[in-house]
Parts: sequence; structure tokens; C-alpha cells
Amino acid sequence: MTAFPHGTILGYPRIGRRRELKRAVETHWAGTIDEQELRDRAAALRRETRARLVSLGLDEDSAVPETFSYYDQVLDAALAVGALPERFAGLRETDGTIGLAAEFAAARGDGEQPPLEMTKWFDTNYHYLVPEIGPGTVFSAQPARYAGLVAEAAADGLVTRPVVVGPVTLLALAKPDDDAPEGFRPLDRLDDLIPVYREILAALRAAGAEWVQLDEPALVSETLDVAPGEVAAAAARAYAVLGAAEDRPSLLVAAPYGAPSAEGWEALAAAPVEAIALDLVRGGVPSTADGVAGKTIVAGVIDARNVWRGDLDRAWARLDQVRRLGAAEVVVGTSNSLQHVPHDVDDEPDLDPRLKTWLAFADQKIGQIAVLARGLREGRDAVEPEIAAAAAALADRRSAPGVHDDRVRARTAALADADFERGPVADRVASQRRALGLPPLPTTTIGSFPQTGDIRRARAAHDRGELGTDAYEQVLRDEIERVIRLQEELGLDVLVHGEPERNDMVQYFAENLDGFAVTRNGWVQSYGSRATRPSILWGDVSRPAPITVRWTTYAQSLTPKPVKGMLTGPVTILAWSFVRDDQPLGDTARQVALALRDEIGDLEDAGVGIIQVDEPALRELLPLRADERDAYLEWSVGAFRLATADAAAATQVHTHLCYSEFGTVLEAISALDADVTSIEAARSRDELFDALSGYERGIGPGVWDIHSPRVPSAEEIAGRIDRAVSVVDVDRVWINPDCGLKTRRYEETVASLANLVAAAGEARETL
Ligand code: GLN
Ligand code: ZN
Repeated sequence: MTAFPHGTILGYPRIGRRRELKRAVETHWAGTIDEQELRDRAAALRRETRARLVSLGLDEDSAVPETFSYYDQVLDAALAVGALPERFAGLRETDGTIGLAAEFAAARGDGEQPPLEMTKWFDTNYHYLVPEIGPGTVFSAQPARYAGLVAEAAADGLVTRPVVVGPVTLLALAKPDDDAPEGFRPLDRLDDLIPVYREILAALRAAGAEWVQLDEPALVSETLDVAPGEVAAAAARAYAVLGAAEDRPSLLVAAPYGAPSAEGWEALAAAPVEAIALDLVRGGVPSTADGVAGKTIVAGVIDARNVWRGDLDRAWARLDQVRRLGAAEVVVGTSNSLQHVPHDVDDEPDLDPRLKTWLAFADQKIGQIAVLARGLREGRDAVEPEIAAAAAALADRRSAPGVHDDRVRARTAALADADFERGPVADRVASQRRALGLPPLPTTTIGSFPQTGDIRRARAAHDRGELGTDAYEQVLRDEIERVIRLQEELGLDVLVHGEPERNDMVQYFAENLDGFAVTRNGWVQSYGSRATRPSILWGDVSRPAPITVRWTTYAQSLTPKPVKGMLTGPVTILAWSFVRDDQPLGDTARQVALALRDEIGDLEDAGVGIIQVDEPALRELLPLRADERDAYLEWSVGAFRLATADAAAATQVHTHLCYSEFGTVLEAISALDADVTSIEAARSRDELFDALSGYERGIGPGVWDIHSPRVPSAEEIAGRIDRAVSVVDVDRVWINPDCGLKTRRYEETVASLANLVAAAGEARETL
């Protein structure tokens, strides 16, 4: 066995500093470049990345991880074991292997064939593709996608470390395919899968890999369909076999995103693998366990979920603590892959220079790893200056103006229980009925209308200073007017202004609130070729001026129909930003909530009678550990209530949630106390309706799946309305799409909304 390097990262962003991979992949999809050109560009990007990682200090053998993916790492693993759903079989290469055509079809769909489902990766905002596995899935090893990377690096004289989603996590995240009988679980196929992983490992060894990293985050989660004890048992079984193979590389098994379950940790420690990576930012140092003495522990002491410059002194103390476990070797690593953070703080010319000294993006985090790794090799004294510099930056951050704003603190400190309570539901229903006079089964949308090329171009020109503010705002007003007229023509009941002024539903608010900074190049992969630029919430949050009021009131001035005001909720603003790590999330959430509360008051004063506060990320932040859930729901639900509780009884508060696992958080959704909730219902419809039965507030289960360009017919929509009305009191049902229309084209939008309004109209007649 070759020794593990003293410092490493569990993964690195693969989209490229300038989103080169996005451009390459999307131009390939558009047919502008062929597959070879795409492959060449991807290879160039990988070479550049490896060279950079080495220059940043990952210069020992196997320190550079291979985490490149054209689309998604879970899809990669599924395809490497041959688990391509049958409906794409025709896209296999002539020799039966799975190439890029099949890969992209599985990711994006192919004609009538729907893609794999997409869902959030643990508690992050990254979306993976859900493998489909059934009793008939034929596993076969196709290691080329990983082995090729090792060989490519070797040609440049580098020994790198391939990273593969491990067999247990792959199966724990998979769903049964269409042919699977009731009760079948993908994990039932573990014993068939293990030999395939064994073959892949042998191929990687043959390609020159000395170490391979297998990611097993399933070990830390209690939100999967499979119980933690079963995950642990599966890991014990899988790694007993994989570890016993002779022709294999050394194995690092990583358990990122939290602490492994007690059983999971014991299974890992006892497994015949050479190294274990632990997330010591989110999880604590475990107690010692049998088997650990012979292993290397990769201590994940540098936070790869956030953008703050780490406290190296504390990281060092953690390393010391881990040493007491009695492992053969302790080395330094990130808590998880750096795929969740942007590339480089030095790429941010617009950020405040002082703020920049408090930040670390992926490259700066690698710098921190390199410092600690040198400390491990040469002793702490050798890196004392760097540890002191990190401490000084932290001290500066603590004392900086804006990080602590007395006015904001005084306000949150004075909050009383009553500030979180609206009046009785019955009074609200009655006053809203009088104030709004809506028909039964009212129709509405979720807020955004398609963001056309014209709007995007105008915004880009405005950002570059080429289009003046007056001219830009005129473009927005024209768009709002168009969208209002369109909704009137379609016959919708509650209109929206369409959100043309928003680049992003969180960044827009971040740009208009104190305490936030936004980046220029801070892209983070969301899924496939899509990336977002999370804002940085660094200080106490307050609202210097009204944000949305003038756009909403302009829209309202154009029509006698009610226009719904549109805000992003506190939990979602936090979930999709990089949030300060120096105080509990709940404290920060309350500050954001108070800013929104003021905005709601201003909207009401301006005559807006319906206000929607979107919380699509409420489910996403739900802790992976069951024992942390109540505390989370307490502060998250509390923040939403704080934002909305001051609304008058006659003001109708809406919220929107876009995920279908309604059951898990149903109680929390009721506790939000919104008058109307719109929710995704395209997938898992049965589960949703079971959970909804007897729901006591307004509810709009989406009747049009906006995630696909398909136009649902009026009959199809009518069927969904019938279904909703059969479980929920008809007075409470709203008719709306699944989610915002921002990414749809006008073509589908107009046709689908026309069908939606027609179906609602017919349903009304039968009441
Ligand atoms: N109001 C937002 C929109 O319509 C909601 C988006 C979301 O749910 N993610 O775009
Ligand atoms: Zn949504």
C-alpha cells in the first residue's frame, strides 16, 4: 500500500472557472460541436484543473481527486455499472457500451422517453439523477469513464485518485424501475452489484490508480428510504468483499455531509479498507472503534459547504482530537467535495476587499489544506504564521461594522410570541372572501413568466452600463404590461407581475438588502449544465428601502383584477445563499424575516391584497439527522411566521413549495399558517393526495408539470382537479401550475394556461 497524501480534497468543481463545461456541453446539445470536440474541450478543462490543484499544493501522489463529470456523479456511477434504463437501450454504442449519447439521453430525456428523475443530493442544492434499478437490471462493469481520467493524468505524469459513488449509496438513492414488483428495493441487488464494483476497482488499479475514493454519504443520512442500520449492514457486506480483493487499489471510503450513524461508523472502522474520510465540520469526532488502529483517517476539518475562511487553529485542534482515536495516520481533508462552492475569491473584482479577506472559495480552501498538510509533515511551528493570519482575519470579521448592527439586534431581541401569530383562520377566511370576491376554484400562477431573451439581454446591457436605468426599467414595465394583458386575456383570476426584474429569486433580494454581497463569477453547479451564483450573507440583515412595491403596484395599476405580490421567504433566502457561520441560522433567519415583514407591510399599505412568500427550500434544509429536525422546523417555520404574521386578516398570504414529498413535512406546512399553499404535484401524486386529505387551508396542488415542455390537455388538467376536489374541500382548492414559468417558453405557457383556465371553468360549472 502506498501512503495516503497528507492533505487532500474530496472533490473539486467541474464546471470550470468560466463555466467552460456548460458552454461546451450546451453547444454540443445544440449540434454546433460534435462529440469529439466536446471531449477535447472537457479534456483541456481537466488538464487545467489538475495543474491548478497541484500548484495550489495538492502535490503528493493521489492528492488530486478525479471528480469530473459531464452531467452528474450519480449518473456516472449508475452507467459505470451498466444501469441504463431499458428505454434508452437503443442508444448504447454498437459494442454495448454506454457512451455520451446514452448518457445525455438518460439525463435529459430522448423524444418521448422521459429522463431519470432529478432530486436534491442530501441537504445540498445540488440535484442528482435518480438511478432506476429493478430485479432485471443487468449489471456490467464499464470502468472506462473513470479509468480514462487516470490514464489521462498519468500521461501528464500525475497519479490521481478516481472518485466513484459507492455501491451502497448508489443503491440507497436509486428507485425501483418500472418493472419492479411491489416491495422490491434496489438495495436488494447489493450482492449482484459488488462484483461489478470489484471489477471497476481492478480496472482502475490496472490504469495506474493507487487510491480510489468511494463516496458513501448514505451512511450519514436518516432521510433515505433505507434505515441507517441497513445502510451500515450493507456497507459492512460490500466493503468486506471489496476489501478482500487482491487486484485492487487502496480504498478511501468517504462519509461526507455529517456524522455517520453509530452502526455506520463501526462498519467502516471494521471494514478491510485503508482509509476513511469523515466530515468533522458537520459531524463530531466519533469514539474509537475496532479496526480504526490500522487505518488512515482523512479528517474533514475544512468546511466545503461554505465560503468562509476557516479557523486553522480550531482545525488543528480537531486534528489532534482525531489523533486520539488511535488511527495509524491522520491527514487533512475537506468536509465534503468542493463542488458546492465557487472556484476562486481572487476572481471577484467587485467584492469589498475587506470582505474578501474573510472568504475562502475552493482554491483558497485548498490553500488551507496545504498549510495544514505541511503542518502535519513539519510540525505546527512551521505553519504558525498562517494559523495566526487566519485568526487575525476572523477577529477582523468579528469586529467589522455591519457584521453586528445594533438596530437589527435590538429588534430581534424585542420579539415576543405574539409577533409570530396571525389571527384565527376563520376570521381570515371570512375577511378575505369579502375583500377579494374570488370565484370557486380560483386560477393563478406561481409568479414568474418566461424570461425572454430580450429581458436577459436588457439586464446584461444594464449591468454592463450600456443601457441606462430609465431605459431598462421601461423594458421591465413594458414586459409587466404584456404579462398582465396576457393573463387578462387568458382569464386567470389572480394575476402576477411576472418577476421580469429578477435575475434570480434569491439574488434579487440579496442585492436589495443590507448584509449581503453578490459575486460576479461565483457559480456553483445546480444540476447538469446549470449553475447558480449564491449570494453571500455576511452581516446583520436589514432593508434599506422597499424592494418589490413599485413593480407590484405598477402591475396592479393596469388591471382591476387582484395582483399577487411576490416575495422569497427567509428559509429559501438562507438555503440558496452562503450564510455567515458565526451565529445560529435561526438568528439570521429572523433578521431576514423582519426585513420581509416590513416589505409585506409596505405592500399592504400600497393596496396589495394577496402576497405570496415562496419557500421552495423548506424541505431541502431539513436535517439529515432525525434528532435535529424539531429544532430546524422550529426556527424555519418561526421565521416564515415572523415574516407574515403582521399581515391583516383580509390580506391573503400565499406560499409556494416546490417538492412533492409533502408527507414528511405536512405538519410544518400547516404550521406556516399561510392562507393558501401551492405545491408541486406532478410526481408522487398519490402520496401527496393521501397526505392532503382533509387539509384545512387553501391548497393548490400543481395541475401542470412545468418542468417539461409538454402541454397538458384540458381533460388531463380536469382529471387532476377532480382528484384534488375529491380529497380536499372544494372551497379550499386553487388551480395553478406546479412552479414558476421562468424557464418555459411562451408557446407552451399560453397553450397550457389556456387549458388550465378552461378546465377550471368547466369544473366550476359542475359545482
Ligand atoms: N415565484 C417564483 C417563480 O415563480 C417561485 C420559484 C420557485 O418555486 N422555485 O419563479
Ligand atoms: Zn416551485
